[in-house]
Amino acid sequence: MKKLYLFANWKMYLDAAESEKLAREFEEISYPKRSKVVVFPSALVIEELVPIFKKTKISFGAQNTYWADKGAYSGEISAAMYRDVGCSYALVGHAERRHKFHESDEDTRLKMEAILKLKMTPVLCVGETEEERKNNKTEEVLERQLSVAYRGLVWPKGIELLIAYEPVWAIGTGESCSPTEAERVCSLVSGWTRKFLGVEPAILYGGSVAAENISDYVSQSHIQGVLVGGASAKKASWVSLIKKLS
Ligand code: PEP
Repeated sequence: MKKLYLFANWKMYLDAAESEKLAREFEEISYPKRSKVVVFPSALVIEELVPIFKKTKISFGAQNTYWADKGAYSGEISAAMYRDVGCSYALVGHAERRHKFHESDEDTRLKMEAILKLKMTPVLCVGETEEERKNNKTEEVLERQLSVAYRGLVWPKGIELLIAYEPVWAIGTGESCSPTEAERVCSLVSGWTRKFLGVEPAILYGGSVAAENISDYVSQSHIQGVLVGGASAKKASWVSLIKKLS
């Protein structure tokens, strides 16, 4: 049976005490057997959460990383530093990084390279803005984001190729992409990835995932999981979402 990826991006929603409380609640949930749960907490609390998840199969991921291992980069945290505290996954090019912090496609390429060098698993986030979709640029934008992020890479054996398709207009808005449209786009993303890298990716959908729609996404043939923001940062919504899968 195929893996089911359940990724929880807590963004900057929770302080230390709230993160610890939610981690204890996550730890008590029973997840479907085939699921792979990864939590992306604030960088500052990861070390505190490691003992909480010790007896579980829940893994940690970084919400963002810098590509140099060390150096004069005030305010940045390298992928190597995240790995040291227990992260095995890292988001790359999340829409909030691209659009609120002006990260470029080339930045995502450098991050992919650095993360793979450390044998961590990148989760490459791609997605079009509302304006790009209105102007029929969705395909062009996604193909460009993928081709630049993959440039020069030979995919290492043993590392999963994970992509999150997250339409920017659907993130945190409550306006989710229809499952059939998400499936159409994810099948294109899969095709471009095979063309550029010769590797089959696992694709997650992200953007206002909730209990009401999760089953419709994960039942699509090219969607193997979800990247959840808002609904993963509260016990009630996360539990109701997981219950839909059991
Ligand atoms: C995200 O942060 O990746 C995300 C999909 O957020 P939300 O679920 O809140 O739309």
